[in-house]
Amino acid sequence: MYQIAFGIRRRKADSWAGFLGYVAGQYQIALQMATAVQYSDMKTVVFFDIDGTLLRSGGAGKLAMMTAVQEAFGVAPTPVEVPFSGRTDRAIMRDLLHAHKIEFTSDNFHRLVETYLQLLPECLQRMTGRVLPGVLELLQALERLDHVAVGLLTGNLRRGAQTKLGYFGLAERFPFGGFGDVHFDRNSVARDALAAAQCFLNGSCAPERIWVIGDTPLDIECARHIGARVLAVATGTHTLEQLAAHQPDLLLSDLRQYGLLLERL
Ligand SMILES: [Mg+2]
Repeated sequence: MYQIAFGIRRRKADSWAGFLGYVAGQYQIALQMATAVQYSDMKTVVFFDIDGTLLRSGGAGKLAMMTAVQEAFGVAPTPVEVPFSGRTDRAIMRDLLHAHKIEFTSDNFHRLVETYLQLLPECLQRMTGRVLPGVLELLQALERLDHVAVGLLTGNLRRGAQTKLGYFGLAERFPFGGFGDVHFDRNSVARDALAAAQCFLNGSCAPERIWVIGDTPLDIECARHIGARVLAVATGTHTLEQLAAHQPDLLLSDLRQYGLLLERL
C-alpha cells in the first residue's frame, strides 16, 4: 500500500517536474525568440565627421571664426597658433578668445558664436570648398540599407554644421547627431551623438553596431570612447601614415573605396 501511494506521489511529482520543466523550456525559447527579434531590430549607426570627411570648406570655417573675433571684439587681425583640426568649436573659440586676451565668458562666447554664424555663409561663398570624393555615393548606398541609420559626430556648432551642410546640399541627410556647442572635448560629443542616436532609434542601437567616420586621431579616440568602430579617411589634414598609427578598424585614402565599409556593416 505504502509502495503504491509512494508510487502515485512520485508519478505526480515526476509529472509536476516535467510540467515545470516544459514551462521553463517554453519560457526560455520565447525569451530567445524575443531577444533574436530585438537584436535583428537593432540598427547599425554610421556617424560622420564634417570637415575633412564629408567636405572641405576651403578654409571658410577658419576665416569666419578669425573674422568673427575681430568684428565682435574690435581686435586687430593677429596670427594665432590655435589648432582647429578635430576639435570642438567651443574649444577653438575659447582658445581664440584667450589668444586675443579676451575673457571666455558665456556672454563673450555667445557674441562670438552669433558673429561667426552671420559670417559663415558669406565665407563659404568666398572660398572654394567641395564635397569630398565618394561621399555622395556612400550616403546613397547607406540610404538603401534598411538596417543602417546615419548621423553626425562633429565638433561644429549645431547651426554651423547645418550652414556648411546646407551650402553643399547635404543638410537633410543627417537626422541626429552630436555637436560642439557645449563641450570642449570630442569624447563628450561622441556620448551626445550616441544618446541622440538611441533617442532617434528608440534605443535600438548597440555600441558594437556603430561606426564613426573621421579624418583625425581625435575622431578615432572619441569612437573608441563610446565602443564604436572607426573608419579613418585621409582626406583632411592627416596622412594615411599618421592615421594608421592610431589603429582605426578601416583606413582609406578617400571614401571612393566605400565598398570596404559596406561589406563590414
Ligand atoms: Mg574633421
